[in-house]
Amino acid sequence: MNRKQELLSHLPSVDEVLKSGYGSEWLGTYPRRYVLAAIREGIDLRRKEILEGTTADVSVESMVPDITARVEKLSSLSLRPVINATGIVIHTNLGRSVLSEKAVENMTRIATQYSNLEFDLGTGKRGKRYSHIKKLLREITGAEDGFAVNNNAAAVLLCLSALAKGREVIVSRGELVEIGGSFRVPDVMAQSGAALKEVGTTNKTHLHDYERAMNDSTALILKVHQSNYRITGFTEDVSIEKLAAFGHGRNIPVMHDLGSGCLINLKPYGIHTEPSVQEILKSGVDIVTFSGDKLLGGPQAGLILGRKECIEKIQKHPLTRAVRIDKLTLAALEATLLEYADEEHAKENIPTVKMLLEDPEKIRARAKKIAVLLRRDLKDAAIEIIKDSSQAGGGSLPEVNFPTFAVSIKPGKITVNELEERLRSGRPSIVARIKGDSLILDPRTISTEEVEAVVKGVRAALR
Ligand SMILES: *Cc1c(COP(=O)(O)O)cnc(C)c1O
Repeated sequence: MNRKQELLSHLPSVDEVLKSGYGSEWLGTYPRRYVLAAIREGIDLRRKEILEGTTADVSVESMVPDITARVEKLSSLSLRPVINATGIVIHTNLGRSVLSEKAVENMTRIATQYSNLEFDLGTGKRGKRYSHIKKLLREITGAEDGFAVNNNAAAVLLCLSALAKGREVIVSRGELVEIGGSFRVPDVMAQSGAALKEVGTTNKTHLHDYERAMNDSTALILKVHQSNYRITGFTEDVSIEKLAAFGHGRNIPVMHDLGSGCLINLKPYGIHTEPSVQEILKSGVDIVTFSGDKLLGGPQAGLILGRKECIEKIQKHPLTRAVRIDKLTLAALEATLLEYADEEHAKENIPTVKMLLEDPEKIRARAKKIAVLLRRDLKDAAIEIIKDSSQAGGGSLPEVNFPTFAVSIKPGKITVNELEERLRSGRPSIVARIKGDSLILDPRTISTEEVEAVVKGVRAALR
């Protein structure tokens, strides 16, 4: 037997590694299948190293760090937090809205105990899951009635199915949009069983276009927020006020899919493009729908508000059960809505709203902090603070520029693409933007608590 073969014969078996003190420690923490796989891989690696002559150590101890790293990796969760350094507040790929503390607390409370989800504590009889947010929705928005389903796509599908199946829905050609993530108005319409009646042209639709499209099978007039798409120049559309009045005159309900739906009056912030949900409802529209996790800043949900008679009809549709909101989402949504009972609380406590409305000077302060810490020990990267603009994201407020101050890093030794990739694959992952040959970190979406991790991550990536 030569030296290498002798060493190989002393390699521990999987069972021997498992029976060492480390084995029981791993088994207490990680799933058995991953512990076994990691040990097998660890032994295989050692066998290879011995054959290559790079080591002669066959002790279990010497293999522990490698096996521990492997079992940790095998058992790690796929869905995990990342640091959003893009400045895009409602970043759909990064999970849209971050929940408020109260929303999270309430979710935990309801998740870990039984609740009165569908139980009326007054009568001891079966209750309604939607009852928990009805009063709040009415008070905050001024709507007659309202409830919530799985998401806004489901809300639109459900409303169309309940109000217009087998009949016609009039929509302006300029509003037949695709939102991304495969929400396309004509496709949703087809799924609902309603027939799309397109009116007007891409750039202009007049009230008389709607008038002409009316017939005996007209069930609904639908207005859709164009979200991340804009027609500019020679354009015209019919306001929701005019459409609502028109619909009422002919006894046809009017629905507005708002997409984002903002409950805060943005005019004091110089944002005039987006009327609030409250204002839209005042126009007399019968139904509005919007997302829970866009400008509202809550969990994924689709809110349906409007006239009591319409809401009741929608709730009775069998699809309501298929797209119903789950109790954890409901818990987060109720707590989020409660913040809106006092607008100042909403601005302070709901991260999405707070980040969007944050004073640029405060963002500059975080940018400065990051830049100062980075400059301290990164001599060959050019680090600057630049004026830039952040985006709302999620198809919300597409024309609004949110002035910001960002940290620009021009790496000296590696390319900017390498830097971006290293940050993305680090732990925690940091997702940033590239602009020319610099990497941009926008502190609008980086919380004070995350500043340290960002600095550490960039340092490690540039080393
Ligand atoms: C985002 C959006 C939707 C889809 O909402 P989800 O909550 O993502 O399902 C539908 N309509 C419009 C106009 C939107 O902007």
